[in-house]
Amino acid sequence: MIKIEHLSKRFGNLEVLKDVSVEIKTGEVISIIGPSGTGKSTFLRCINLLDHPSGGSIRIDGVDIMDPKSDVPKVRQKMNMVFQSFNLFFHLSVMDNLTLGPIKLLGMSQQDAERKSMDLLKLVGLAEKAESYPDELSGGQKQRVAIARCMAMDPKIILFDEPTSALDPTMVSEVLSVIRRLAKDGMTMAIVTHEMDFARDVSNRVFYMDEGVIYEEGTPEQIFDNPQKEKTKTFINRIRSFCYHITSPDYDLYAMNAEIEMFCEKQILAVKTRQNLLLLVEEMLQIFNPFLSSLLLDIVLAYSEKKEILEVVFEYTGEAVNLLDKNLLADELGLTIIQGVTESIDYRHMGNKNRLTMILKSA
Ligand code: ADP
Ligand code: MG
Repeated sequence: MIKIEHLSKRFGNLEVLKDVSVEIKTGEVISIIGPSGTGKSTFLRCINLLDHPSGGSIRIDGVDIMDPKSDVPKVRQKMNMVFQSFNLFFHLSVMDNLTLGPIKLLGMSQQDAERKSMDLLKLVGLAEKAESYPDELSGGQKQRVAIARCMAMDPKIILFDEPTSALDPTMVSEVLSVIRRLAKDGMTMAIVTHEMDFARDVSNRVFYMDEGVIYEEGTPEQIFDNPQKEKTKTFINRIRSFCYHITSPDYDLYAMNAEIEMFCEKQILAVKTRQNLLLLVEEMLQIFNPFLSSLLLDIVLAYSEKKEILEVVFEYTGEAVNLLDKNLLADELGLTIIQGVTESIDYRHMGNKNRLTMILKSA
């Protein structure tokens, strides 16, 4: 149904997709996994022309959609997308959100569009909310409306870009259940997700993206239980991760600590490990504090169950500077504490990012 050949996408000098070739057949459910920044969103956005590909070809049922003469709204209708952030029209009722596209773009009558929309709202469990406005719904409900709205356009394939990552943990499963239901009904779907258990049981094929290509693909069993290539193995083994973005000196310290605690809870880390982790983050933030108005900092925690190690990464923007360099530190006490709770500290500068990777001492 969809045939993608040698697809490439550059943003200026940044080559995000190098050479992606893949075929998706009717009824397939594909999960797309991989580290962040490896072009998963870009790949989906290229497929429905939200981003214009730099090269290659995309054919749907034999028709080249990159042909300048192709009807872009029509392409988007056929390959409709569900976003992390719902993208509902906030000034329209749920019903009007659903009927707008079919009436405007498919030329459906108001009555038919409403009948169909009501069926779809029933399918996602929200018939009762037809007259509500998006603001009156929970995140999980909004995302289910977004899925129903997507279905209202009769797409051939639905592209999901991390459909649950903006949701409270309590609402993830209601959205995943709806997607599972669509899979059962034979809907063709490509889903970018970090929900590995879900990816494993919903999909026929899994694409692991890295280095600008589909680095490895296979059945869920092949990819999750027996990955063949190095980067896939690394990713699969360290999948349980958490990321916190700090964009200013006024970041919410309490919220961050609460999230770290929740991560520890989920991974069932030993009390001592938790204490070490919180201490490490606290000391690192002391060191970063004077620079937080001029750089962006990501704190990434990755726990490998298999190896039983917790990796803590501090990734920050700006020119190549190792902020743990002894010559730069006002005093070395913080560094001593940091060294006390870590097995190793590795500094690297890659692209425009500095990365300090630490392995926490295990309890
Ligand atoms: P993923 O979804 O796998 O996390 P993305 O596809 O969002 O990755 O991004 C891949 C890379 O492309 C990142 O380095 C990102 O910064 C860059 N990128 C994405 N969109 C744009 C854009 N519109 N302009 C410039 N760079 C972009
Ligand atoms: Mg993305």
